Amino acid sequence: MTEISIVIPIFNEEENIQILYSELNKILEELKKDYEIIFVDDGSNDRSFEILEKIHNEDKNVKIIKFRKNFGQTAAISAGFEKAKGEVVITMDADLQNDPNDIPCLLEKISEGYDVVSGWRKGRKDPFLGKKIPSKISNFLTRKLTGVNIHDFGCTLKAYKKEVLTDLELYGEMHRYIPAIVAWKGFRLSEIEVKHLPRKFGKSKYGIWRIMKGFLDLLVVVFWQKYSTRPIHLFGGLGILLSAIGALLGFYLALQKIFFNVSLANKPALLLAMVLVLVGIQFISTGLIADILIKLYYSKRGMDYSIEKLNND
Ligand code: UDP
Ligand code: MG
Repeated sequence: MTEISIVIPIFNEEENIQILYSELNKILEELKKDYEIIFVDDGSNDRSFEILEKIHNEDKNVKIIKFRKNFGQTAAISAGFEKAKGEVVITMDADLQNDPNDIPCLLEKISEGYDVVSGWRKGRKDPFLGKKIPSKISNFLTRKLTGVNIHDFGCTLKAYKKEVLTDLELYGEMHRYIPAIVAWKGFRLSEIEVKHLPRKFGKSKYGIWRIMKGFLDLLVVVFWQKYSTRPIHLFGGLGILLSAIGALLGFYLALQKIFFNVSLANKPALLLAMVLVLVGIQFISTGLIADILIKLYYSKRGMDYSIEKLNND
């Protein structure tokens, strides 16, 4: 029985793989547990796959998944999860920025009874302006919007009990928000400080666009969590509010016109009132359509819940 699966996404990391594998191998052997390392080659166009195959041929604990092209880190992690057989699944980066020496600490925390243990790169070794500041802002927003209080959502070094990963539907750049998604499902979440090292070889695969994409993904995750069962509550609520403000404003203008003969021709407020009512109606209709779509969606796959135990004999 496999006890531990390590899942590692790889996109053009030729200089890092061998070093990572040696360190990892040493630590995992010391643990004296059954393990597998799953490298997911996310469409690398350097020598990464060649190096991986060589390692795979010499070590039966090493498995490789090779993507036909670059599908992104979330897809790679998700493919790894699907193949992972371990009771505990650990994800980490391939670029030597995560330290395999932290793995025993993650495992220990899991054995204390947590379902997910997330790494916190407290002394993060990344460029200040390009990475650390955006990451501070995005972690702050994520904490506020999801209500899940961990410091570092973006750290790939995380450990999961196997059952956490069933029914986890990942897409986009979503892997960062797995802690929030699983905390909402009622799994127990914890965080430990982990080491972080500067990238020595190869380049970071992400630029400034990631921040915007990440934020949009966050909106989807939060919207889905809060309103996916009744989108009309969000859209309809907003729609009614805007329409009501517009209607009141219009009513006020009409009274002025009727009783005090105030001209409406040069009043931008009239335009505002009309726009508010129209936008409000749009929101309500969007809400209705979204609600119908959601009905269709759930009638096909059933409601979302997560069962911890079933005593059914
Ligand atoms: N990665 C991947 N596919 C991608 C981009 C990145 O598999 O499209 C891998 C990459 O090889 C590394 C990890 O994801 O192992 C994190 O990437 P990177 O170090 O570039 O991110 P950063 O540390 O700069 O946030
Ligand atoms: Mg990195």
